[in-house]
Amino acid sequence: MGNHRADRRGSEGTASESTPVAGARAAGRRKATRRQANPFRKIPAVPTIVGAVAIIAAAGGAVGMGGGQLDGSQSLQLSAGAADAFNGTDAFNFTGEDPRAQAISRDADRLQQAQQAAADLKASVNQQSEQRNAELASLAKSAQNRADEIAKNLWVLPTVGYHLTARFGQSSGLWSHNHTGLDFAAPTGTPIFAIANGVITFTGWDGSYGYKTVETLPDGTEIWYAHQSAIEVSVGQKVIQSAEIGKIGSTGNVTGPHVHIEVRPGGGDPVDPYPAFVYHGVTP
Ligand SMILES: [Zn+2]
Repeated sequence: MGNHRADRRGSEGTASESTPVAGARAAGRRKATRRQANPFRKIPAVPTIVGAVAIIAAAGGAVGMGGGQLDGSQSLQLSAGAADAFNGTDAFNFTGEDPRAQAISRDADRLQQAQQAAADLKASVNQQSEQRNAELASLAKSAQNRADEIAKNLWVLPTVGYHLTARFGQSSGLWSHNHTGLDFAAPTGTPIFAIANGVITFTGWDGSYGYKTVETLPDGTEIWYAHQSAIEVSVGQKVIQSAEIGKIGSTGNVTGPHVHIEVRPGGGDPVDPYPAFVYHGVTP
């Protein structure tokens, strides 16, 4: 490359004035000068390849002749710009394939490839997007179902304005065995609410429980409401959550008005109501 620069420097300022360049020296200064004076009209004969390359080099301004050897492929490759100069002239019919057409063709190929790649990418993205949307829709439906299920299973507290007076499992001289429920103490006449949707499966007097209502939930769990002063539902009645089913009292074995709540999964032995309430979304 150092030689290239040296040669170009040597012919600097002469190319545009049609003065012979390095290439012309190889062919003979006089001959080249004549050609350069008017290469198109005075030399109608087929120019020698050296002369043509010299002309091309003059127009293109770049050809390596430092080693005295003409690199034909290199110089022809560099002649794309020079070819333009001869188009349309009667002296030099440039018959080779138009480099511009080749370049345009290559550009068109690249453009087509890029467009195809973009189309492929878009199709891939669309496919992934559709798949993702389907997954999201499925997930949303699943979440909604779960939310519905949870909402359906949420409980509410059985009364208002209460305080807890006895917990599950406590022992007292009042009971022959440990306490089997959770006591919500409030004045007599305070409403008792259904803690969840269900159906009434028992109402009436039950010994130490006093007046009692049993509600069976859809999963089979029985909720016992005891010591009532009033019962306001009947067996077989469907009740919705928060519906008033009776009033707090002090019937049965009690020391004061409250509603005794028992939770009996599957109608079996009682479990601690407190964590059952918490599990169903409400803390007594
Ligand atoms: Zn109790």
